[in-house]
Amino acid sequence: MATDPCLFCRIARGEIPAQIVYETPHVMAFRDIAPQAPYHVIIIPRDHVATLNDTRDPGLVGRLAIAASELAEREGFAAAGYRTVINTNADGGQTVFHLHLHLLAGRKMGWPPG
Ligand code: AMP
Ligand code: ZN
Repeated sequence: MATDPCLFCRIARGEIPAQIVYETPHVMAFRDIAPQAPYHVIIIPRDHVATLNDTRDPGLVGRLAIAASELAEREGFAAAGYRTVINTNADGGQTVFHLHLHLLAGRKMGWPPG
């Protein structure tokens, strides 16, 4: 419903515009509004799950990773490499509480992450 406070649920429903780059029945991906790399997309399950702590469904979690590798292949950076990140809760730096996987590419990533 329109009053749902979850930002990514609202994007999934098309209530908030996003640059969608990938869609399946269960998963979608869109450009991050504040990209941290030349290529930075957010991959989400369409159904609301707040954090990685809130699911034990290997299919749900696996689909996020498979979406990342499919995008990497499609966009041509699979061989060069990329970074996938799931931030969880305060110490992980999570700011949007709808489970999502960051896919970053287009530059050499640093390690350890900040
Ligand atoms: P996290 O800090 O892991 O919870 O990541 C949330 C991400 O969502 C950040 O990288 C934000 O830049 C991104 N973000 C926030 N609002 C939007 C939006 N409306 N459209 C696309 N990305 C967004
Ligand atoms: Zn949500």
